[in-house]
Amino acid sequence: MNILLLGGGGREHALAWKLAQSPRLDTLYAAPGNPGIAQHATLVDLAATDHRAVLDFCTRHSIGLVVIGPEAPLVDGLADNLRTMGVPVFGPGKKAAQLEGSKGFTKDLCKRANIPTAAYVRVTSKDGAIAALEDFALPVVIKADGLAAGKGVIIAETRDEALDALDTMFSGAFGAAGEEVVLEEFMTGEEASFFALTDGTAILPFGSAQDHKRVGDGDTGPNTGGMGAYSPARVLTPELEAQVIETIIRPTVATLAAEGMPYSGVLYAGLMLTDQGPKLIEYNARFGDPECQVLMMRFDGDLVDLLLSVAQGTLASQGPVALADRTALTIVMAAKGYPGTPEKGGAISGIDAAQAGGALVFHAGTADQNGTLVANGGRVLNVTATGDTVGAAQAAAYAAVDAIDFPTGFCRRDIGWREVAREQA
Ligand code: ATP
Repeated sequence: MNILLLGGGGREHALAWKLAQSPRLDTLYAAPGNPGIAQHATLVDLAATDHRAVLDFCTRHSIGLVVIGPEAPLVDGLADNLRTMGVPVFGPGKKAAQLEGSKGFTKDLCKRANIPTAAYVRVTSKDGAIAALEDFALPVVIKADGLAAGKGVIIAETRDEALDALDTMFSGAFGAAGEEVVLEEFMTGEEASFFALTDGTAILPFGSAQDHKRVGDGDTGPNTGGMGAYSPARVLTPELEAQVIETIIRPTVATLAAEGMPYSGVLYAGLMLTDQGPKLIEYNARFGDPECQVLMMRFDGDLVDLLLSVAQGTLASQGPVALADRTALTIVMAAKGYPGTPEKGGAISGIDAAQAGGALVFHAGTADQNGTLVANGGRVLNVTATGDTVGAAQAAAYAAVDAIDFPTGFCRRDIGWREVAREQA
């Protein structure tokens, strides 16, 4: 079977690496891809925003499955157009992708389906928001409704900070994403991510992970797309995981199906493990980046088979997802300046040496410049290793990082710290 993979980050490199291992694969195409993905796929010049061009490509190359990596094409309805043309696609349609595309949509769904989450109110004007603010204790969470690449969330510690945040949101700083705002109760607890495949009916857990959003060690500094992750997140015990499936995932899937917008793809639940049990922070409509990298490192099954069964609505026939017990941990090497303006063009070498001990280096923002690998984005490499414990995986991953020569890059030195501390206690 020929497969088209859309996206060009570390998540898609990990997906390409796994898809390429399937005996069911004939040719893997990727757009736009990156130099890492090019090791497993034929890169094609195709914009995911040009639905007509994607459809034509699928016809010309007999594509049997399209795997959509990032959220934007999903929210934009690409999956619907592919399905209409009879092309199997991994990823939800436009309506169901609102789970990620509109925070207000998800909060309303939680209310209808009685899903545990923070108390909230949706507002469409600054005056309305200021009035609503009175009903919230501090700190209060202020979110742009739409996609804002992880930057549309402000946790205001004081009323003045909240007013400033509302000023920013309603000034158009987030474009259409900020025309509506959600005010939320601040929840406390440890965060974890949980992944489940669904074809709209069947649900298959795909493991847990913990991300590290802040740029600096000790979870300091500004938020990023994610500086590292490990899987499984053992803080999400089997009991809590069962609770998440029953109180969050199942009612979400059932409600969306009952309301005529069945969800097909991977549901990525961002969770807060509160004293009152797990609560939903947000949904994403695709695999996490860099969480996907650690999930793929643990996945021992046939990814083509699994994703195709989601796309074709036959997920119920699949056994449990084959996830190894071992821990996988990934460290993001970013270009200096990130999450602000990253320094582009810095040379990278030593990847083979880094991989010699069994680690894998997934490419995110890299480019091939006349045969030299260079940085070409904020997050550049995802150095990923496994171990029997988080501590062992962490040690292996940092040993691999240290073999890489990337003078204009940096990384956090403490990925996995919470779990490493628990292991050492
Ligand atoms: P991303 O796309 O980067 O995952 P996002 O912009 O979609 O993020 P959220 O995941 O909703 O936004 O929020 C980002 C972060 O803000 C969360 O990971 C969490 O740390 C914090 N946060 C969001 N909502 C709350 C809340 N109600 N209480 C406490 N913290 C929260």
